[in-house]
Amino acid sequence: MIEPKLFLDYLHELYPEVKATLEFSNDFECLVAILLSAQTTDVSVNKVTPVLFKHFPTPEEMAKANIEDIENDIKSLGLYRAKAKHLKELSLKLQGISDNTIDLSFEELRALPGVGWKTATVFLLERKGIASIPVDTHIKRISGRLGYSKPNDEPEVVSKKLMKHFPKGEWQYLHHAIILFGRNVCSAKNPLCGDCKFRDECPYLRKCSKTIGKKS
Ligand code: SF4
Repeated sequence: MIEPKLFLDYLHELYPEVKATLEFSNDFECLVAILLSAQTTDVSVNKVTPVLFKHFPTPEEMAKANIEDIENDIKSLGLYRAKAKHLKELSLKLQGISDNTIDLSFEELRALPGVGWKTATVFLLERKGIASIPVDTHIKRISGRLGYSKPNDEPEVVSKKLMKHFPKGEWQYLHHAIILFGRNVCSAKNPLCGDCKFRDECPYLRKCSKTIGKKS
């Protein structure tokens, strides 16, 4: 395993500042944006949400919309039909909230249509300051590669293991920084191991029978 403090220090060196890349201005928009981000990029979501939020600025407006109109606004995203259905169902449940503010517990969020463990944890982290390390595909992969969790661990298990290894005050930072590290350095198919500080001690690289992506 790579010493957690070494990894944390390296991330801070690579990414002194991190921030959420999804764009939203209130709880309702945040929840919608996170839901839309499943299996697609934040950049793609940010391209469709300005029009979507203009057409349907509140749960009431989205709940009474024709599903085809919601689909039309998000059709450039993967799984758009399922996502549109979830948005309408979610909005029906959220009707009556004040100022688009969502004050729900983790369990209540999970009970909403289309809201899974990751969506609920990201929402609570970004909007309510409830510390955790939500785990996406990048975080799961890198945590496994560096030895903090097992490759086949479920995201909830990966999250718990990571939270044991790293101080609470760094959890939100880690959520964003590990995703950046996964996109820019330790990608799924072609990790830039030759450029990585851990190339001589990385458990994943040691296990590999051949050198991956090393730059000459
Ligand atoms: Fe990822 Fe390669 Fe660095 Fe290991 S050495 S953390 S596999 S980029």
